[in-house]
Amino acid sequence: MSRLNVLLIVSSLALIACGDGPAEPAPTTPDLSEKASGPACGTFADVPRDHWAYGAIEAGAEQGLWSGCAESPRRFCPDEGASRAMAAAILGSAAGLEPAPATGEVFSDVPRSHWAAGWIEAMHREGLVAGCGGGRFCPSDALTRAQLAALVTGVAGHDPATPRAAFADVPQTHWAAGWIEAARAHGIMSGCASGRFCPDAKATRAQLAAVVIAAFNIERAPLCEPDPNEFPLEPGSLAGLTIALDVGHGYTASGSFDPGAVNGRDRNVTEYLANQETARALRPMLEAAGARVTIFDYARGTPERMTLRQKGARARGNDVFISIHHNAFNGSVQGTEVLVDNTVATSPDRRLAGALQRGMMDSIWDGDGRYDRGVKSQALGVLRGAAGLVGAKVLVECYFIDHRDISRGAVPELARRSALGIARGIGAYAGR
Ligand SMILES: [Zn+2]
Repeated sequence: MSRLNVLLIVSSLALIACGDGPAEPAPTTPDLSEKASGPACGTFADVPRDHWAYGAIEAGAEQGLWSGCAESPRRFCPDEGASRAMAAAILGSAAGLEPAPATGEVFSDVPRSHWAAGWIEAMHREGLVAGCGGGRFCPSDALTRAQLAALVTGVAGHDPATPRAAFADVPQTHWAAGWIEAARAHGIMSGCASGRFCPDAKATRAQLAAVVIAAFNIERAPLCEPDPNEFPLEPGSLAGLTIALDVGHGYTASGSFDPGAVNGRDRNVTEYLANQETARALRPMLEAAGARVTIFDYARGTPERMTLRQKGARARGNDVFISIHHNAFNGSVQGTEVLVDNTVATSPDRRLAGALQRGMMDSIWDGDGRYDRGVKSQALGVLRGAAGLVGAKVLVECYFIDHRDISRGAVPELARRSALGIARGIGAYAGR
């Protein structure tokens, strides 16, 4: 089956509900099996809520008219061409037909095994589609906009209208002029640009979707709100803010790789890994709010050999500098803390530290005070390196990586929660 083909599926299609994330587990034994995935909002990763056909594509998916072109992530391929077979299947379904048991004997190029054979034969039996000539249907051929207008308007029960030369490129003698006028008059299709219809242009999958929804008066789906657990800040609320994130540990000045703290039960669970995953989860949250984000990540084999102070100095010019770390002690202590330097801390540093601590306490521990280790002062080379060069600088210790309950599988979800708290903390610090 071609990946262009829209699969018809039952109407009880399970949709990803907006804002309907996994329930928050109890803080002491986090259920970390749920992992954020898929589009922030809506069903298809390539149809964001500001896509012109979002409401139509979502509505059709809800009605079971189409399910997309690919899974993981689920996609719709809105800009790819719509085929004649796809149009027949979708329109047959929208018109309430049942796919006929295919005989494979109606069109020479639509064998019984063709995915849309039942629909094409049912549509043909109802007189709603014709072949392309010579006893064939040309199921894989691209549908033109003129064909789309004629097909959809006819299947929706309208007659061709008297051509009125509404479009400069559709003369009254055009074979589809009456259908195009009917489609225009019924609000099913409009032009392609300044007074033209582009009758010979290939119809895209998004256009097919929009036209079917309009022709059958299906209500367009409302815009969903982005999941606040993925995008915690208002779009634009950090506009202009520059943020440098330092992935703690990794390649060092001595030319060796320092994994930071390591979990005693699972040596794959390292602080460096958790630092990196947290920075990567945090970046899109901040960028969605308009911030400019730089990540300093000293992955294995990084060419630079830098001291902690040099790593801190790289943040020069940023409004916010956060060195991301995870704590370790004896395998049973757990909690969150934020550190400022004990000699060069400024009041913005302390304000940022307090905001991040509050944010992470809420997002990681549901505000359970037992895990609140507070804001602390310590001698910290990476922060001293950034002193005087940035607006505010702190080091976060998100949680204890060596705790016996922390497994490799838990790291991504904890990274997401840590990032969520840090993002909210930055939002509070920036007063936006
Ligand atoms: Zn560390």
